Amino acid sequence: MLEPPESHVIHTDRRKERSVFKNFIGGEWMEGVAINRNINPSNLDDLVGEYARADEAQAQHAIDAAFDAQQTWQRSTAEERADAMDRIGTELLARREELGRLLSREEGKTLPEGIGEVTRAGRVFKFFSGEALRLGGERLPAIRAGVDVDVHREPEGVIGIITPWNFPIAIPAWKIAPALAYGNSVVFKPADLVPGSAWALAEIIVRAGKLPPGVFNLVMGAGSQVGNAMVKSPKVRAVTFTGSTGTGRRIGLDCMERGAKVQLEMGGKNPLVIVNDADLDVAVSVAINGSFYSTGQRCTGSSRLIVEDGIHDRFVAAMVEKLSALRIDDALQPGTDIGPVVSQDQLDQDLSYIESARSEGGRVVFGGDLLQRATAGHYLSPALITDTENAMRINREEVFGPVASVIRVRDYEEAVAVANDTVFGLSSGICTTSLKHATDFKRRSTAGMVMVNLPTAGVDYHAPFGGRKGSSYGPREQGSYAREFYTSVKTTYTLA
Ligand code: NAD
Repeated sequence: MLEPPESHVIHTDRRKERSVFKNFIGGEWMEGVAINRNINPSNLDDLVGEYARADEAQAQHAIDAAFDAQQTWQRSTAEERADAMDRIGTELLARREELGRLLSREEGKTLPEGIGEVTRAGRVFKFFSGEALRLGGERLPAIRAGVDVDVHREPEGVIGIITPWNFPIAIPAWKIAPALAYGNSVVFKPADLVPGSAWALAEIIVRAGKLPPGVFNLVMGAGSQVGNAMVKSPKVRAVTFTGSTGTGRRIGLDCMERGAKVQLEMGGKNPLVIVNDADLDVAVSVAINGSFYSTGQRCTGSSRLIVEDGIHDRFVAAMVEKLSALRIDDALQPGTDIGPVVSQDQLDQDLSYIESARSEGGRVVFGGDLLQRATAGHYLSPALITDTENAMRINREEVFGPVASVIRVRDYEEAVAVANDTVFGLSSGICTTSLKHATDFKRRSTAGMVMVNLPTAGVDYHAPFGGRKGSSYGPREQGSYAREFYTSVKTTYTLA
């Protein structure tokens, strides 16, 4: 286990055999009011660690500290902030194997996926190190003689950051890095299921970043208490949230009511279209990766496979063959292709959606079974369901597990219509060898991100990320587009 320094933990018994990882509030490591036990989903007997849980009053303390610290942090130089982001990124990259192991152990994605995610987090901090120095403004020609019109960006103030469990270090990184780089202070609340990666990231941020007290705060605890305090506080100028659609909508309404800025990244029901002219090998590998890697627990995962009649049967047969060769096992075991589902609740949800698809006439042609492995864990074989219609519940709602359904369509036109027939609009994809289909699909897809011959999941860290329709609300995340959310524009007029 990653061992925290003495000052950062509470000892829960006299022999100091167990320690609890603390919150970081106002520049100090602080005890919570309760304890969260972090369990390894690959091995339910393995306790990853115990983490402090804060209440509303402690969240308020962190918000006050961030609010006070903001006054000085916003006057720090761009170079100071760039250097801080650079040091954080350097340490994340240097420790990617160790932190990737911790991530995979607590979340259940495979070790290469865990290491890849930590690498991304490191690169995100490096990117925003540069961005801190690139935040330019502009001068406009004036309509009055002798007047200068200047436009520049300023930090928003205190940013409340609320994150989900499925990318325990990358999502926090791509919210925290731009917030700090552009001169905001931060109150960060990670998801209950994955406090380990969040704690490790926070410890690096405060130590390697050498930030003044209060600029960055880690407050682990319940969404209904800690998260809610952040959403409701008038001192929190902007709230960035990634998580489920229901929670996001409620947070959005609360923020709107008090006039706070809000950015919501929520669910998806991402279509992958396979047309008759697709390269079959490419289509199968794109679909397997997009639907089932990271145990299908990706907001951009391909959950609806929309397949043209002429290639349907060959595609399904090739998918079943490929799925049969995948190894579902302990996330940390070498050779594992797919790790366990993150929790019992998520496993129950996956199984209930498979059942619902069956009851509506879907045929489970592969998987959907609980698996026994050397250790007790939430192991589920990846489920491929054919004979589904787009109107079925399995194709309307987000499952968020290793479950993909196949919808057979007559032709390309029907494929586009079915792909766009969803309340979501995060990511979409097409497998084709024709420039005509690729170009047309890129134009007509109603998703925020469109992939050609690539999985619907898997994006670059310097490009804008986000969806349309019910999937997202507010400005894009990542890349230089992130400045829209984390800064506020000021226009000044000067008669010289
Ligand atoms: P969730 O909505 O249950 O929780 C997300 C976060 O919100 C957690 O930190 C939680 O504690 C907090 N929260 C819960 N209730 C709250 C409240 N009342 N006030 C404030 N905060 C509250 O989501 P999850 O189960 O952790 O994550 C899975 C979901 O995240 C899926 O729907 C997935 O699609 C989505 N997701 C979206 C993206 C994207 O970029 N669009 C990326 C990853 C995950």
